[in-house]
Amino acid sequence: MNEQAGRLWVVATPIGNLDDLSARAAEVLRGAALIAAEDTRHSGPLLARVGSRAQAVALHEHNEREQVARLVEGLRRGGDVALISDAGTPLISDPGFRLVRAAREAGIEVSPVPGPCAAIAALSVAGLPSDRFVFEGFLAAKAAARRERLGELVADTRTLIFYESSHRIVAMLDDVASVFGAERHVVVARELTKVFETVLSGSAVEILRRLHADANQQRGEFVVLVAGAGGEDADATLAEGRRVFALLCEELPPARAARMAAAITGAPRKQLYATSSG
Ligand code: SAM
Repeated sequence: MNEQAGRLWVVATPIGNLDDLSARAAEVLRGAALIAAEDTRHSGPLLARVGSRAQAVALHEHNEREQVARLVEGLRRGGDVALISDAGTPLISDPGFRLVRAAREAGIEVSPVPGPCAAIAALSVAGLPSDRFVFEGFLAAKAAARRERLGELVADTRTLIFYESSHRIVAMLDDVASVFGAERHVVVARELTKVFETVLSGSAVEILRRLHADANQQRGEFVVLVAGAGGEDADATLAEGRRVFALLCEELPPARAARMAAAITGAPRKQLYATSSG
């Protein structure tokens, strides 16, 4: 460990409401010798607000490789560097991973200043199971690649979290409905911590209906959460399937009743039929 080396601070900044910047984040931004920012112009007002006079250098996906060597050299010589992105937590669908890795490899201390993150903020208000979740970030822009990735996630039982832009929110939700089924539970968290914050919750098809009914709901920044497979929705569907199956069994042979109950409720036919033999 280099005794005189500076420390790399990974600092979370607000995702909308500037009051969400923590006191510690402000202190670190004031104390750093250098700020590595995704977009120095974008971060200017935030840095001015906290009274940081540190020099800001750009670190984005197109220059990260070159900037890393320079920043690590600066850290080695002493003087702290604070890494920030345009919004939220750096590295979460944002640049910084190469800098953090290089700093660690060079024996530089790296410390987080935790704070806002759109994915976690959305999960905290979605009302979906949060004991296990998977962060998928942005899906591909091309429809075929997007659907293929969704297809790989169809049986995942964890809550799925995606980022999405206003350009693709409707197309993405269309794909969720067709790949996961119209009834899969979806939560769309829009413009969190901002004036037009909205959290919509319902089946994929209901959410799409609401976005089509109000074009304003298609504007802004989005986190899309999809309930994992086999959650409470699946339990409710199976319970309804069993109720309908039991009624039909009074009039029909079990195989036929199971087929009809499955068609009516969407519950899996085999599981219904197993009820009759078990
Ligand atoms: N690093 C950021 C974080 O910690 O959340 C995410 C950066 S990523 C480039 C930007 C995406 O995050 C947006 O396109 C949107 O999907 C999501 N996002 C950021 N701010 C948001 C907000 N206030 N409300 C909803 N989603 C937001």
